[in-house]
Amino acid sequence: MEAYLDNSATTRCTEGVRDVVVRAMTEDYGNPSSQHGKGVEAERILREARETLAATLKVSEKEIYFTSGATESNNWAIIGAAMANRRAGMHLITTAIEHAAVLEPMAYLEKQGFRVTYLPVDAKGHINLRDLEEALCEETILVSIMYVNNEIGTIEPIAEAGKLIKAHNPRTLFHVDAVQAYGKLEIRPKKLGVDLLSVSAHKIHGPKGVGFLYVNEKTKLQPMMLGGGQQKGMRSGTDNVPGAAGLAEAAREAYTQLGQSTEQLLKLKKRMIDGLKTLSKSDAEPVKRGETAGKPDAQKPCIVIHSEEGDKSAPHIVSAAFPGVRSEVLLHALEERGIYVSAGSACTTNKKVPVSGVLKELHLPKELAESTLRFSFSRFTTEEEIDYCLEALCELLPVLARYARH
Ligand code: PLP
Repeated sequence: MEAYLDNSATTRCTEGVRDVVVRAMTEDYGNPSSQHGKGVEAERILREARETLAATLKVSEKEIYFTSGATESNNWAIIGAAMANRRAGMHLITTAIEHAAVLEPMAYLEKQGFRVTYLPVDAKGHINLRDLEEALCEETILVSIMYVNNEIGTIEPIAEAGKLIKAHNPRTLFHVDAVQAYGKLEIRPKKLGVDLLSVSAHKIHGPKGVGFLYVNEKTKLQPMMLGGGQQKGMRSGTDNVPGAAGLAEAAREAYTQLGQSTEQLLKLKKRMIDGLKTLSKSDAEPVKRGETAGKPDAQKPCIVIHSEEGDKSAPHIVSAAFPGVRSEVLLHALEERGIYVSAGSACTTNKKVPVSGVLKELHLPKELAESTLRFSFSRFTTEEEIDYCLEALCELLPVLARYARH
């Protein structure tokens, strides 16, 4: 049996997505910039994809720009907004637990003379709105906050942050990296006060290497890709028609089944968390933050669950530490049984699994940070996969912990 529990890293394309991508590659393969019928047909596919995506966010299709994925969307939103608005101020705000696709553009801008405030998070990964309020100043031109943290699933208070930012200064731009939220939550940028929003297709059963950036039509943004002037001169490059079609189909499928899949994901999350709690039933005192975990009893592994239950946490991510067993050891032992999970975030690691920056920001003891795995689900994940994983953990943990002690 196989259990793919790494859906926050990437997902399998659906058959519907595959079909529209293949059609766009083999039948409607024209260049949307061409003036003949093949070009017109490709242009129609792009237009319809934009309309579908705009409808999922209740925005105008004029506000959707295709990109090569969320890394490009984030880079463009942050650097493009900073460059276009720098006369108004040189201060930016973000959080300490963003994806590298936000942190690196921020670091780049610091080298260009911008000042960046990194908001800290609490032990569960939430920013404190008071910190945001204190950080906002006259010079602040952009705030970038992720919707759902990719490593532990924390949902940040986007609506409240949007209100604060706009009350402070309606011209301060608000960017949201919504990669792990899109397709899982209802998102309404106009209601949330969000001006720029990044999305990636491959996290929602779409193709890799395609995504979009929502740009409020009033937002001043400098283009970063210069060339043939595609997408109203804002993002040059021959349009990725198959990718856009696949992304739109994936989004359509995700949002038509949203209620049902959220229910399914919540059930899976509960099953996983309950299973881990049962597994870790131990006479030992639970490990508290700031303390070093005692060596677990070989028969009774001690498990520390980082992800919260309830509406402040995404329904598809469970992060937990298995003190006494290094995460890469457990990851590969699970892999031998056909179970695929992540240690930290797959998209940032260089395969050597360094201790994640996010876990450091949660001030977890090193022992917990080094033994953390992320289990992430999709609407295609089954209860059998969860149970198979829990059974494997039940067998592996005492054995691996024993080895670790020797
Ligand atoms: N932002 C977050 C929160 C992510 O989880 C990821 C990928 O894991 C990215 C950005 C990068 O997305 P992409 O793979 O489309 O470049």
